[in-house]
This record gives sequence, structure tokens and C-alpha cells, in this order.
Amino acid sequence: MNTADLSFLESVNASFNLAADALDLPKGLGRQIRTCNAVCEMKFGVELKGGYEIFTGWRATHSEHVLPAKGGIRYAPFANQQEVEALAALMTYKCSIVNIPFAGSKGALCIDPKNYSLEELDHITRRFAQELDKRGLLGPGVNVPAPDMGTGQRMMSWIADEYQKLHPNEINARACVTGKPVHFGGVQGRIEATGRGVQYGIQEFFRHPGDVKKANLEGSLEGKKIIIQGLGNVGYHAAKFLEEEDGAKIIGIIERNGAIICDQGLNTEEVYQYKIQYGKLEGFPHGKFLENGEDALKLPCDILIPAAMEGVISRANASQINAKLIAEAANGPITFDADKILQDKGVFIIPDTYLNAGGVTVSYFEWLKNLSHVRFGRMDRRFVEAQGEKTIKLLESGIEKCLDEHAKADLIKGPDEITLVRSGLEDTMREAYQEIKEMHLSNPKIHDRRTAAFASAIRKIADIYDSMYL
Ligand code: NAD
Repeated sequence: MNTADLSFLESVNASFNLAADALDLPKGLGRQIRTCNAVCEMKFGVELKGGYEIFTGWRATHSEHVLPAKGGIRYAPFANQQEVEALAALMTYKCSIVNIPFAGSKGALCIDPKNYSLEELDHITRRFAQELDKRGLLGPGVNVPAPDMGTGQRMMSWIADEYQKLHPNEINARACVTGKPVHFGGVQGRIEATGRGVQYGIQEFFRHPGDVKKANLEGSLEGKKIIIQGLGNVGYHAAKFLEEEDGAKIIGIIERNGAIICDQGLNTEEVYQYKIQYGKLEGFPHGKFLENGEDALKLPCDILIPAAMEGVISRANASQINAKLIAEAANGPITFDADKILQDKGVFIIPDTYLNAGGVTVSYFEWLKNLSHVRFGRMDRRFVEAQGEKTIKLLESGIEKCLDEHAKADLIKGPDEITLVRSGLEDTMREAYQEIKEMHLSNPKIHDRRTAAFASAIRKIADIYDSMYL
């Protein structure tokens, strides 16, 4: 990243300030909303095979205007407090944008998980959970972590299990963390959720001809050329769904150690399986390999989806980007300075605070499922099917004709959990897109969707503060 760029946290705060200035907020309220309420640094020892090892971790609670506070836990060797604070702030705004009643939090542990065995990671994660718990930073009503970079389902179930042991009488213990495996209190569709949300957000963009025109695009997603950076959880699912379900062409996939490009379109699943098998993209039999993956960020395409990490588009490369639309699947992939350069070039940006909110949205559904102790669809699925059967019988007797069996089966099918989760996520993404657009179009001081998204979040949080202090 170019040193002249603002840091990640500074970028988030600068975007916030632009939006807050466009709103008519009571004096000082903007600063109250922007300020990170608390951040706790923890150092704890864990006895591993080689002796005691000391780990450093953080949990930032950016806001408590509603509770619980929500946000992932990242395991990364480069984790630091500033990054955790920036990510916690983004969580506050993100939840508000997609109308989820959570405040923002984020956690990180300075660790490279690749250097530890599963048994060691279990031990370390449980110790981290104990540290969080004894500081009041874990619990279904106060602070609910989820997976992020370097963490996944298994770690979430270790945290839930540890919390349950510490609080044996807490009936809602499993709601202390989301992103758990389905057999351990998770919800169907959580793993794919962020990528799925990215797909729904881009689909919604294409339902707004004015926005499509502003991006110098036309038509639908079908055949659009996409370059995606990061073939991890978010990037893999987004690319797969956009390719397989919307007919988009994935013409470039960028990973840490190089990129694979192919103008005719890549098969995301094949590239992903190759990456899993060989740990790299080099040698993939279709397309051309570029050793310097970052070169592929600059190639002409309709949609560029950065889905890896923050700060990848900075002052250093922004002017060379050749995409018409940038869909920010990662958190903070464009620095504040780069954002200005891209906007001057006429690039349309769908901001991260909105576009990658699918994960927290489905986490919210998981939390609700845990609190209600019942799977989605369990109470009404058969009832809906029975109603459908009655309607079809009436219809058939009215028209004196039997309907096609396949069409009938499709019409009477009651909703299962995955259907309901996807439907709730799609509704959330579509509604939030429209709210952001409305904020943009109704406020002459707002000139882009990132500022509009921040303004939409700030307006709703300000209203909550207003109600609390009246
Ligand atoms: P992940 O670890 O599963 O995947 C990240 C991928 O990006 C990996 O394949 C990695 O090799 C690759 N990568 C890392 N640095 C790169 C670089 N410089 N160039 C090219 N590729 C690089 O992580 P993820 O969960 O997919 O998260 C990706 C981004 O999305 C992060 O910014 C994260 O904060 C954000 N995010 C994730 C979720 C979620 O539910 N997982 C939700 C919201 C936001």
C-alpha cells in the first residue's frame, strides 16, 4: 500500500465524516457515534507441546447503542489494534445499513493458524474464549463473535462449547457465537452467506437501469466480464453463484501467489478445486497465469470484485483500474484516497458496508434460531403445503383439468430452512440497496453510494441515540 494513503481506520473515519457532514446531526453526536467505545487487549499464556506461548488478542466494542455487539474474530499474524477498531466500526455501520439490531464489534488474535495443529488451535481458542468471557466480551446478550479471516465453523463451536461449560445454566448459551456448524446450532446457508449477499447486491444493482447507465454498463449480469481477487470463502461463493446462476463470465481470478486469466471465462469450481489440491493457481490447465497477481486488478472488465483484504486499491494503482463497476466484497479494499481517484474516473462503487453484509445478516438469523430453539420452517412447512394442496384442488375442479405434476409439486412445496434464509437475505439486500439509493438521491450533499451508505447508517443510529436521551 502506498504510504501516502490514509490508514484503514483513518479511511473509515474519513468516509464517516463526509457522510456525517451531509446530515443535520445535533452537535457532537457524530463524534459520539464514530468513537470506538472500548477496546481490550489481552495477553494470555497457553501451554503447548514446546512449552508456554504468550498470545496477544483484541476485542473492540465500537458501539453499544443496541446489544449485543456483533463481529468476527480474525486469526492473522499481522493483526493489530487499529485494524480491529476499523473493522468494529464497519460492523456498526453495516448492521445499521441492513437493519439488523446489533452494534459493531471485532476481535483478532495475532497468530498464523497454519503453524498450529488442530489440537493446539482448540486449546488456544478455548483460552481466548475464557479471556473474552471473564471481561464480559462474550455472551448471547452482550457480544457475539463470528468467523472471519483465518477462523471458521470449527473454532466457533469450540467457543460455544467453552461458553456452555462456563455458564451451564444459560439456556441460550449457543447464541454466544454464530457461524457454527448446522449440527451444533448453526443455520443452513451461513457459510455461503457473504458471497450470496454479494450476488444479491450485484443483482439488485442491475435492477436499477439508472445505476447501470451511470456505470457505463447495459443489460443484465448475463455475459458480464468479472475479475475477482481472493478465492476464499467470500470470493469463491460470489464467483461461483454469479457464474453458475447469473451467467456472468469470470475472466480473472487473483490469489496471493498469482492470477489466472481467461477471456472466454473460467470455471470457478475447477479453479477452486485446483487451488485446494495444489495450494496455488500456477499450472491451472486453462487460461494464462500471471505471476504478479496485482497486474490482473488493472485489466479491463465490467465488474471488479476485490474479495481478499483491505487496502488493495490505493493511490498507487487506482488510476490504472479499468473496471466499470467495483463491487467491494472484502472489508475496506479501496482506500479513501483511491476512492476519490476512482470516482473522478467515473467508476461506480458498491460499498463494502452494504455489499458484504450477507454474513452478519445470516448470523442474525442463526442467533434468532438459537434464541427460539427451533429450526426455521419447522412450524409452518407442512401447513403451507396443505394450504397449497387445497388451493390446487380448488383450481383443478374450477378449470376441470389436472395441472402438470411437476408444476404442482413446485407450487405446493413448503419452505425449508435454506429457502427461508436465502429469501430473508435477498429481501435484506434489496431493501438496503434501495434505502442507500434513496439517501443518495434525496440529499444534494451526497455524491456517491459509499457516503450514502454511511449516511443511511448514521441517520438510523442517530435516531436511536435521540430516543435514548430524550
Ligand atoms: P478467506 O481467508 O477465506 O479468503 C481470503 C482469500 O484471499 C484467500 O484465498 C487468500 O489466499 C486470498 N488473499 C489474501 N491476500 C491476498 C492478496 N493480497 N491478493 C490476492 N488474494 C489474496 O477470507 P474471507 O472470509 O473470504 O474474507 C475475505 C474478505 O471479506 C476480508 O476482507 C473479510 O474481512 C471480508 N468479509 C468476510 C466475511 C465472511 O463471512 N467470511 C464477511 C464480511 C466480510
